[in-house]
Amino acid sequence: MKRKVTILIVEDEVAILTGLKDVFVYHGYQVDSAETGPAGLQKALSGTFDMILLDVMLPGLSGFEICEQVRSQNRDQPIIMLTAKSSDEDIIQGLTLGADDYVTKPFSVAQLVLRVGAVLRRSHIGIEIGDRIRLSDATEIDCRNLTCQRGTETVAFTRREMEVLQYLHGNSERPVPRDELLAKIWGYAKNMEIETRTVDIHIAKLRRKIENNPAEPRHLVTIRGAGYRLVSDENV
Ligand code: CA
Repeated sequence: MKRKVTILIVEDEVAILTGLKDVFVYHGYQVDSAETGPAGLQKALSGTFDMILLDVMLPGLSGFEICEQVRSQNRDQPIIMLTAKSSDEDIIQGLTLGADDYVTKPFSVAQLVLRVGAVLRRSHIGIEIGDRIRLSDATEIDCRNLTCQRGTETVAFTRREMEVLQYLHGNSERPVPRDELLAKIWGYAKNMEIETRTVDIHIAKLRRKIENNPAEPRHLVTIRGAGYRLVSDENV
C-alpha cells in the first residue's frame, strides 16, 4: 500500500484547524496538528512531514520563528504560510524566512488543497542540468549542495530557490515569464487564478544571494514585460 502523504498543520484557531484537518483527511492525506508555537516547532523538527502549513500568529512562538528554525535545519522541507490578507509584510517576511508559498486568510479551502497538491508534486522537480552554474569568476552555484560561493562567502539556498535558478539556467537564452515559473516550479495551472507574489519575492531573495548589488542585478535580470533571465558572464 502506498504511504499516505503527511501534513503538519500548525494553527491555534480551533475552528480553522478542525476545518483544515477534515478537508485534508477527506482528500487522502494523513494529518497531524499543533495548536501552539512550541508544540508546532517540536513536531516540525521531527522531520516526518511531507509538508507544513504554518499559521503566523501562534501562542508561544510565531510561525515566522518556526519557519526560520525549520529552514536552518532542513532546506528541502516544503512550507506554506497562512498569512493575514491585509499584511504584505507578513507575506514578504514568511517567504524571506524560507517559506515556499503562502495563502492569505480568509482563504478558499479548495484552493489551498490545490496549492498543497501542486507544491508537493513539485517538491522534487529534478531538473537535470548539471551540478554547477558558473555566473562569473567570483560567483559559482553548487546545485547539489544548495549553496553558492560568492568570493569568500558561502550562501545557502532552499530547494525551491535552487529550482528557480536551475530552470532559468536551463532556459538562459530567453526571458522566462512569471506565469511559466509558477506553472513549472510551483506546479500551478494557469487557470488556477491565484494571485501570488511568491515568484517576485523568491527572485528578490535570490538576487540578495547571488548579486553583488541586488538593486542593480547583473545576473538575474528583469526583461520588462517578458520575465526574468539568468545571465552569466559567458552568455551575455
Ligand atoms: Ca493564529
